[in-house]
Amino acid sequence: MTTLAGKTALVTGSTSGIGLGIAQALAAAGANIVLNGFGDVTAALHRIRACGVQAWHHPADLSDPAQIDALCAFAAHESGGVDILVNNAGIQHVSPIEAFPPAQWNKVLAINLSAVFHTSRLLLPLMRQRGWGRIINIASTHGLVASSGKSAYVAAKHGVLGLTKTVALETAHSPITCNAICPGWVLTPLVAQQIADRASAQGINPQQAQHDLLAEKQPSGQFVTPAQLGALAVFLCSPAGDEVRGAAWAMDGGWTAQ
Ligand code: NAD
Repeated sequence: MTTLAGKTALVTGSTSGIGLGIAQALAAAGANIVLNGFGDVTAALHRIRACGVQAWHHPADLSDPAQIDALCAFAAHESGGVDILVNNAGIQHVSPIEAFPPAQWNKVLAINLSAVFHTSRLLLPLMRQRGWGRIINIASTHGLVASSGKSAYVAAKHGVLGLTKTVALETAHSPITCNAICPGWVLTPLVAQQIADRASAQGINPQQAQHDLLAEKQPSGQFVTPAQLGALAVFLCSPAGDEVRGAAWAMDGGWTAQ
């Protein structure tokens, strides 16, 4: 499938997990990819280039607006322009609110919410110039419902959905769309950490902790996969997605149907 041939996508936080899965699906559909994130950059670039497209990486730390400026300038100039922006980078911190460290609150809000504002404001003018665009924000079921211990994450993800709707309205008279995807549990390093924490807090083995984590929230009892989320992102970039605007599209094994 080469429906996105000739287009370029910037996917934030795409060196692992969901971001890498989405980048790979967009690349398989023909899009060139600007990766961002930490960790094993070489392996991520290799996976994308194996799809036969061009790939670049920029190491911006999205908690710093100046580095977001540099990332967007790099993506706009180095890759020849950005048609698709996937705001995926995100972090988690779990703690009751009374003990929630203010520095962690600021960091979660900066990466999970403010970075979405900055990349959108910086790259939207380029999409308007090019006459087409897609902004896909990776929110969460925690953009729709809450869980205890996740005040900053839940606040940021609810904020992402509000920002998504506003940008969707501001672009409604154009061929640019803005939508959010709300995944349930996906087995990535971010969730593996929560499973490990749960196992050690409750003195149970990781398999039991994983089972309990799913059973508590996700009726299917199955993890959502990065490949499934990637296929949804490709759909949103297709002509069939032209009038999907401001949606908060859950892919959560039934979590928010309860
Ligand atoms: P992950 O930890 O596997 O990947 C996070 C990515 O973001 C990595 O590439 C990492 O290098 C990058 N990153 C982290 N901090 C960064 C920073 N300051 N600047 C730039 N990049 C940074 O996480 P994931 O589970 O794939 O999560 C991706 C997104 O999906 C997040 O927004 C998360 O909230 C959301 N999400 C995840 C789940 C899940 O179950 N895993 C569910 C719903 C939503």
